[in-house]
Amino acid sequence: QLKGKTAVITGSNSGIGLGVAHELARAGANVVLNSFTDRDEDHKLAEELGREHGVEARYIKGDLSKGDEARGVIEQAGVCDILVNNAGIQHVAPIDEFPVEKWDQIIAIMLSAAFHTTAVALPMMRKAGWGRVVNIASAHGLTASPYKSAYISAKHGLVGMTKTVALETAKEQITANAICPGYVLTPLVEGQIPDTAKKYGMTEEEAKEKVILERQPSKEFATVEQIGGTAVFLCSDAAAQITGTTISVDGGWTAL
Ligand code: NAD
Repeated sequence: QLKGKTAVITGSNSGIGLGVAHELARAGANVVLNSFTDRDEDHKLAEELGREHGVEARYIKGDLSKGDEARGVIEQAGVCDILVNNAGIQHVAPIDEFPVEKWDQIIAIMLSAAFHTTAVALPMMRKAGWGRVVNIASAHGLTASPYKSAYISAKHGLVGMTKTVALETAKEQITANAICPGYVLTPLVEGQIPDTAKKYGMTEEEAKEKVILERQPSKEFATVEQIGGTAVFLCSDAAAQITGTTISVDGGWTAL
């Protein structure tokens, strides 16, 4: 159903980005993977994904903490019908101890990069007469938790930018929406488990169940396939009038 479209997914050599790339490719889209490394295995990952789904797939290196490199990823892709702004990192610390360079890096990768990629991708979508911007925000784009000031600020900002892009493209065949996942078990979350366990004096298993999934009423992690499937839906004709909004995939978190 997405045959002939090209999707660029930022931060896609792991986790949700890679899962979204697989689901878009399964639906027939050609895909461009990205991260800040340039290893053989990054390019091989794209090759294998392309082979598995019978689509064109390539990997473009770009460090999204730098505005010109974020723009460069879309420029090098040359065509971008579907833009998935996904790259992200986390840092957990009270605001008065939050390292300034971590704040700057998180805002750059998770908010400013989406501004840069969108700015370059929109003219390409307009030229093609069709486009989809899918921003991977978070339940933390709609609610807050302590110790994650930069992440929560970036994600709330991304939800705001999504609405603005939707209004600027409202009369065109272009939509912009944000997916707001609750907890998905990816390397980013696995990395938080030891810190959380330490902070609360628990075992890692207890930290997973009692702290991390505390706010997720389903008590289950969402999967990267479910996030990918939601992205595919947002690219479908059924979603053509869905724009400027958020879709939560969070096991009930934001219903609390
Ligand atoms: P992950 O660590 O598995 O993946 C993050 C990706 O971003 C990786 O491919 C990494 O290489 C890339 N990346 C990091 N810094 C980069 C940079 N400077 N330039 C280019 N790429 C960079 O994490 P994930 O859980 O898959 O997270 C993906 C997105 O989903 C993030 O925006 C995250 O905030 C969001 N999210 C995750 C969860 C969750 O529970 N895992 C929940 C809600 C939202």
